[in-house]
Amino acid sequence: MRLTCAGAARTVTGSCHHLELDGSQLLVDCGLFQGGADLEALNRQPFPFDPAALDAVLVTHGHLDHVGRLPLLVKRGYRGPIHCTAATAAVAKVILRDAAKLQEEDHERALRKALRAGRAHELPGPLFDSDDAEAAIARFAPLEMERPLGLPARVEARFRHAGHVLGSAYVELTTPDGRITFSGDLGNRESSLHPPAVTPDETDVLVVEATYADRTHPSRADTEARFEEVLMRSFARGGNVLIPSFALERAQMVLALLKRAMGSGAVPRRPVFLDSPMATRMTRLYQSAVHDFLPEVAAELERGDDPFEPPGLTYTVSTEESKRINAVEGGAVIIAGSGMMTGGRILHHLKHNLWRSEASLVIVGYQARGTLGRALQDGAQRVRVFGEEIKVNAQVDTITGFSAHADHDDLLAFIEPARAGTVVLVHAEPEAMDAFAPQLTQRGMRVVTPALAEPVTF
Ligand SMILES: [Zn+2]
Repeated sequence: MRLTCAGAARTVTGSCHHLELDGSQLLVDCGLFQGGADLEALNRQPFPFDPAALDAVLVTHGHLDHVGRLPLLVKRGYRGPIHCTAATAAVAKVILRDAAKLQEEDHERALRKALRAGRAHELPGPLFDSDDAEAAIARFAPLEMERPLGLPARVEARFRHAGHVLGSAYVELTTPDGRITFSGDLGNRESSLHPPAVTPDETDVLVVEATYADRTHPSRADTEARFEEVLMRSFARGGNVLIPSFALERAQMVLALLKRAMGSGAVPRRPVFLDSPMATRMTRLYQSAVHDFLPEVAAELERGDDPFEPPGLTYTVSTEESKRINAVEGGAVIIAGSGMMTGGRILHHLKHNLWRSEASLVIVGYQARGTLGRALQDGAQRVRVFGEEIKVNAQVDTITGFSAHADHDDLLAFIEPARAGTVVLVHAEPEAMDAFAPQLTQRGMRVVTPALAEPVTF
């Protein structure tokens, strides 16, 4: 078999793995490159395979860096099914529709500029539009976890629980040439929501993410205790508490922990606003699932005691409702996107609260270099929001334990039982891989870290 990584090769985003077997071609994930102009330019490059020649596509989970190029794949000729779990199909629908809308809006903005500059003819079209997204969505073919799926050339596929986000799975492919397992993204074993990944069966080749292979996350107990401690301190200051959050997994985690902390009396009850239409849609999906959760979370859902609705929760839908929250003073919790504070409704909450010494900003997610979130996390005294200078008087706290990704020990706990002869490391920066690879070599595994579009034969 021959594997070509058309993304997430010595970088984190753009997961897209092409597998050529005797008589068939498969693709696992088809994600968008994200994080700066150089990486994003790769999205416009042709795929290093012919989309029309693929027999099937399998998708591990709904994050944009795993599904974001599916519309392009279909636009460029793919006509087969896109297999994924039902929950992943539901998540990916929301993500792809939102991404298409953003592509269209960005393009319209660029077009207005280009028209004024007399350069409209030089401007490429949007990467994909809503019609392209719908064409990809129409190809989703949901498959239950653990149920074997027969594919051409006597290949059998199986999705297995990965513990990363709602619906996330890893993919095991049993072929006449041996078994190859693709981890997708693996969850943090200390998650407060999702159970750990199912232990993999033995495999010949393991293609595994290594995002945090050089890190150890704090324990779940420490993270939850720190969250409560930060909330207590923030409430004592008397102002609003802003929690910028990703829409998928992180927002639901924060809601669940708020519910537990307020429900048990560990922290006082305060009004909570989920001010993100996308996070609201994702929360609805979490509320309608039961199979993906830790037993205590599933039990609450089955009892009808919604684990994602703290007392006093308001879902704000319209922009007007969102703006009305600005009038709230004195201790409301506001959860809004975007997670790295690069856009979205969190910006107007930052503008109205950062200058207040009684307000608090609680950072619960990764902040990439160059983002407003990172500047605030690093202690910036003054920032610009909507072009306006804002003095930062609010308290800024970071809680590091909320990662949805496996850390070093989680990865080893997944890799060792798979007893793979060859391990292909993907979805990580070179530093994380280079630190991790020797540890696998010591354990007798052959380790490969392929470059983009560089084929590896097994
Ligand atoms: Zn992911």
